[in-house]
Amino acid sequence: MMPPDGFPPAPPAALRLEIDRDALAANWHTLDRLSGKARAGAAVKANGYGLGAAAVVPALAGAGCRDFFVAHWSEVPAVAAHVPPAMISVLHGPLTAADAAYGVAMGTKPVINSAHQARLWRDAGGGICDLMVDTGMNRLGLPLARIGDEAIRGLDIDVLLSHLVSAEEDGALNDIQRRRWEEARRSIPHRRASLANSAGILLGEAFHGDLTRPGLSLYGGIQRAELQGVIGQVAHPMAAILQVRRVGAGETLGYNATFTVPHPMRIGTIALGYADGYLRCWSGKGGMLSQGRRLPVLGRVSMDMTIIDLSAAPDLAEGDWVEAEYSPIAAAARSGLSQYELFTLLGNRFAR
Ligand SMILES: *Cc1c(COP(=O)(O)O)cnc(C)c1O
Repeated sequence: MMPPDGFPPAPPAALRLEIDRDALAANWHTLDRLSGKARAGAAVKANGYGLGAAAVVPALAGAGCRDFFVAHWSEVPAVAAHVPPAMISVLHGPLTAADAAYGVAMGTKPVINSAHQARLWRDAGGGICDLMVDTGMNRLGLPLARIGDEAIRGLDIDVLLSHLVSAEEDGALNDIQRRRWEEARRSIPHRRASLANSAGILLGEAFHGDLTRPGLSLYGGIQRAELQGVIGQVAHPMAAILQVRRVGAGETLGYNATFTVPHPMRIGTIALGYADGYLRCWSGKGGMLSQGRRLPVLGRVSMDMTIIDLSAAPDLAEGDWVEAEYSPIAAAARSGLSQYELFTLLGNRFAR
């Protein structure tokens, strides 16, 4: 079928992000089980941590998730396409009267972070909302000292939440934050309480409240040793080989000639570059996989392409696909990127 503008449909991209929906659903079930009596929600901000809201939200809803967190109001429609808007919370809260009006019109909850936001919400005729209290991050959220403000007292609060600074470490800060969160729970009426992100779930029952908010670990990220072996890889970036060539000893590859060919080699150029989030930090370090074989990245990653060594895969030809090595712990260690960055960088040229 021709699209309405009369142009033929564009062919599929030469790079795609394969999302293992079964692994995603299994990760949610694992985190929900580890949350004990609390229920696991899901942080799906930044387009489902870069994996694509259209893929991850239905899979999470299908698994049983009922609470979805985004950062911006502009992220609501992609989630509301798959779940009722009342299941969505907007972490940044209303910054303008237009934000608050949109929340009211959609029936989506803001996370209120200040007395000013509380007034914006109530002036717009807003009803049920969430409240973020700051217990040590000093980033976004109501300072505990302001919890008695008249504007805050007037809110109809569903989830009372706070956010842990370093749940992946066993420092003193976790308990300090937990005690401040408990103080907030005693100070203001609310329906449900929430503190833990992915790593926070592993800190035990005292951190669970009624609702946990994993993000990274749903998508395969592992920040605490307890999750190794129980959280599965979800994101598999794939790219097609655009060209295959033979190069002789002494030739150089790619921009700035950073790789000199030591002996005759068969190499391939793949349709994946830093514009896709495969940053230049992978130059000379990354690898592609094909049927268990590792194909190292040679020379600099460029904007739309990367050169790889095909010596170990003589069967691969133009048009064949390879998978980027992207197992989160190893990929983060090798690239110097955080696991969060690895996922959220993945660009919009990937077919998802
Ligand atoms: C992003 C975010 C989360 C999820 O954190 P992860 O470390 O990815 O599990 C939870 N709560 C809030 C407030 C967040 O901003």
